Amino acid sequence: MNADIIIIGGGLGGLTTGALLAKEGLRVIVLEKNAVIGGGLQTFRRGNIEFETGMHILGGFRKGGTLHRLCTYLGIIDRLRLRDVDEWCMDEITYGEDNATYRIASGRQAFAESLAVYFPKQREQLHNYVEALYKLTDEIDIFHLRLTSEGIVSHSEQFLWPVDKFIAHYVTDQNCATFWRI
Ligand SMILES: Cc1cc2nc3c(=O)[nH]c(=O)nc-3n(C[C@H](O)[C@H](O)[C@H](O)COP(=O)(O)OP(=O)(O)OC[C@H]3O[C@@H](n4cnc5c(N)ncnc54)[C@H](O)[C@@H]3O)c2cc1C
Repeated sequence: MNADIIIIGGGLGGLTTGALLAKEGLRVIVLEKNAVIGGGLQTFRRGNIEFETGMHILGGFRKGGTLHRLCTYLGIIDRLRLRDVDEWCMDEITYGEDNATYRIASGRQAFAESLAVYFPKQREQLHNYVEALYKLTDEIDIFHLRLTSEGIVSHSEQFLWPVDKFIAHYVTDQNCATFWRI
């Protein structure tokens, strides 16, 4: 088959890009080295058991979210079986020598507040950290599906920091900082 575009890798990135380009009328081939497409977000079955390779939550599927908008544009949103996360426990993480379990709420403020339950002295820092994270995402046009107005993309100094430095700047409690690194 003749193709205008060949994409190497059938993960979320390759498949979405391929679908978008095909919708724009280009002939696309996606080459995947594995037997199953989906990359890091695939599931597979062995007998009656379904294995997830990593995926447990997909962000951006609420109305107005990036993936919701993309899938709406691609005409597949109604074919997806989506279920909202538990507002008060979108994620439950167990780690550390004491096997402590942290329940994390969904939503900008609630997210920081749910962690402040475990790290009460870091409440203000946690809120600042979350706000700073949101600010960083504002710098990424593609994340918001915005057209870049200028040809040159410039970022703030913090955007270019290594993640450890960014976390340490906001979160001073070591246990709390370790949590974020995980
Ligand atoms: C443990 C874990 C848990 C995660 N949990 C979540 C989650 O809950 N929610 C979420 O949104 N994200 C999660 N992620 C992140 C998510 O998996 C990635 O953001 C997403 O899969 C990235 O998609 P991608 O297409 O860029 O890369 P990938 O998914 O890695 O896809 C790359 C594809 O390219 C193929 N490939 C590589 N080299 C070649 C080659 N030479 N020729 C042909 N094919 C090739 C690979 O086989 C693969 O299929 C998780 C990641 C990990 C590791």
